[in-house]
Amino acid sequence: MSENFDKAPLLEVSHLRKLFPSGSSVFSRKSAPIKAVDDVSFTLSAGETLGVVGESGCGKSTMGRAVLRLIEPTSGSVIFKGKDFTKATGQELRQMRSDMQIIFQDPYASLNPRMTVGEIIAEPLEIQKRYKTKEEERKRVLEVMDVVGLNPKYYNRYPHEFSGGQRQRIGIARAIVLGPSLVVCDEPVSALDVSIQSQVLNLLRQLQSSMGMAYIFISHSLSVIKHISDRVMVMYLGHVMETADKEELFANPSHPYTRALLSAIPLPERHSKEKHQRIILQGDLPSPADPPSGCVFHTRCYMADAICSTEKPELRDIGNGHFVACHFCEKCRGKE
Ligand code: SF4
Repeated sequence: MSENFDKAPLLEVSHLRKLFPSGSSVFSRKSAPIKAVDDVSFTLSAGETLGVVGESGCGKSTMGRAVLRLIEPTSGSVIFKGKDFTKATGQELRQMRSDMQIIFQDPYASLNPRMTVGEIIAEPLEIQKRYKTKEEERKRVLEVMDVVGLNPKYYNRYPHEFSGGQRQRIGIARAIVLGPSLVVCDEPVSALDVSIQSQVLNLLRQLQSSMGMAYIFISHSLSVIKHISDRVMVMYLGHVMETADKEELFANPSHPYTRALLSAIPLPERHSKEKHQRIILQGDLPSPADPPSGCVFHTRCYMADAICSTEKPELRDIGNGHFVACHFCEKCRGKE
């Protein structure tokens, strides 16, 4: 990870929303849309890693895909290198896409079983018509295989011949072969054994320092997020609850939801100053088709008060680049 980020953001995401039509309802002919991502804004600098964390169903993967337009955002803007990616079409869209890639969660399902390793990694080069000859293309594929730790003799082998960790290396090679500036890593280690997870995380860090890529790193695990991120964004039900530099967030978690997530991390891995008690959240994640009024977390929050069910808390700056969406975050930090 680079410590010296460029001043101008590589990526500026503003008020991003993604609504999905919901199924028919017995109570009404037209039911409310599912608000998978609701008003998410953030910036990302070159070479930086933004860790995005939250429970399954919090909208973090949908957000990552909407940023890349793998699914079209409903509204909001995605400014990448100064250009509005949400409005790009034709050649401009193709060029911008080559600079923004994704590593998928499932290294089994994300690779075409009928293609060889060489063909899989070469596919983005062919789509972008990057090289004039097959020889140049093959040379680039072999170079990238070497960078991600895949033996060149695997070039003509098929995905089923590999372990999960090696398959994820193939997925990483495919994502970096065009030399992108931004990679969305969508739970890239959650399907892997714990022993393999750190190898893949270390590979991603090495690649970032040698290639200068920025990552949006999505995970449900705060331990993984802590390992890889420079900044952290906590999401709940499509909304941003808290965002801060990693050190600040882990030392001073200020949203009740973040504190609950942190309390589930085994003790030696935490570095919050105070003694921790495990905070067990009651109930399930509410449906994004019918989110709670006011603060979307109020139905599960152990600090909720009357105002929480009626007034939505704004994401506000509490200093030190730390933003929190909670009416009582000062109290939550123990400063009131
Ligand atoms: Fe909990 Fe209220 Fe803060 Fe929401 S605004 S997190 S319900 S205390």
